[in-house]
Amino acid sequence: MPPNDVAPRLNLYSLTRTALQQQLVHWDIKPVHAARLWKYLYIELVSSLDEMPELLPKLAERLRAEATLGVLPTALETASSDGFTRKYLLSLPDAERIETVLMRFSGRVTACVSSQVGCAMGCVFCATGQMGYTRHLTPGEIVAQVVHVARVLRHEAPTGATKGTTRATRHALGTRLRNVVLMGMGEPLHNYDAVMHAVDIMLDQSGPSLAAERITLSTVGVVPGILRLAAEQRPIHLAVSLHAATQAERAALVPAARKWPLDELMAACRTYSEITGRRIFYEWTLIEGKNDSEEQARAVGELLRGLPAHVNLIPLNPTVGYGGAPTHSDAGNRFREILQQEFALPSTMRQRRGIDIAAGCGQLAVVAR
Ligand code: SAH
Ligand code: SF4
Repeated sequence: MPPNDVAPRLNLYSLTRTALQQQLVHWDIKPVHAARLWKYLYIELVSSLDEMPELLPKLAERLRAEATLGVLPTALETASSDGFTRKYLLSLPDAERIETVLMRFSGRVTACVSSQVGCAMGCVFCATGQMGYTRHLTPGEIVAQVVHVARVLRHEAPTGATKGTTRATRHALGTRLRNVVLMGMGEPLHNYDAVMHAVDIMLDQSGPSLAAERITLSTVGVVPGILRLAAEQRPIHLAVSLHAATQAERAALVPAARKWPLDELMAACRTYSEITGRRIFYEWTLIEGKNDSEEQARAVGELLRGLPAHVNLIPLNPTVGYGGAPTHSDAGNRFREILQQEFALPSTMRQRRGIDIAAGCGQLAVVAR
């Protein structure tokens, strides 16, 4: 084997269980030994190769020589004063960095995961768009974020636990991560293969064991990606960032709309819902005086007429590069009322979380070093 500084190490988080078994066969090790390793990775959530005492020695040796666990070190952790949100700046092997957010809502915890370093889509109001695109994340880097949040939750002392709580008790009591949103930095459908590979690992029943209905992927509207999701019958939820109900208004906020115009996007959404039988979440960032009028509420009602849909309204979060203001709550409430009363269109006003630490929707960015 070439020396370590030349050979790219195998990232364990980038392997599906089948691929791991194949790797073992390649190393001349019985694939049955993958089960123990898989458990260390995704049930015990170990954070280093040294924490796997019961591995077959030959396998442990191979891992030490040729693999890396793929843990992303935390460069910075910030907690919001809202008490519900924590943001992690994670370092990648090439010294790039990404942000991952842990959000608590009543009764559930959600990991908001990044799919790229930066983003190429350039939405005017989004901090990630404002920083530009650097690179795609690998499947292992996406899975590592999920494991990171799961591990944070696992290690939290559960309510009522005493200081001497054993590791085994913590495992039993610690909160389990059940919800993942692919809504962090980047456009997940621009990095389709890596994201779906990571999703396959997240869904593995003897691994992270996330339920498909608790994973939501949000897209700016990459039409070929939406059609591919439909054709592949991917069971995860889909959210589409709409923000405007006419092509001209949308293109002014979302440059990607020039490539994938609104009528093509809506046709793809219709096809998606027809093939999968699932409703789509349509996201609408409410910006004062831009897209929060009664007229615009009616336009979105018309646009989504007949489609299985739920609208997620997000009051604009501040970003350095965009001067717009969030909608006033009166206008936001009126917008919702129109959708509900005139179009029987359900909607949710997204709770504002983590704004003080720039962990809200569209606020994730990594400042140049
Ligand atoms: N790239 C994907 C997912 C990441 S962004 C997408 O665009 O859908 C997640 C959501 O936050 C999107 O709906 C996005 O439009 C929205 N968003 C971006 N910037 C925002 C901001 N400043 N305030 C509120 N929402 C924002
Ligand atoms: Fe990219 Fe989504 Fe931000 Fe648009 S809103 S720039 S697609 S991350």
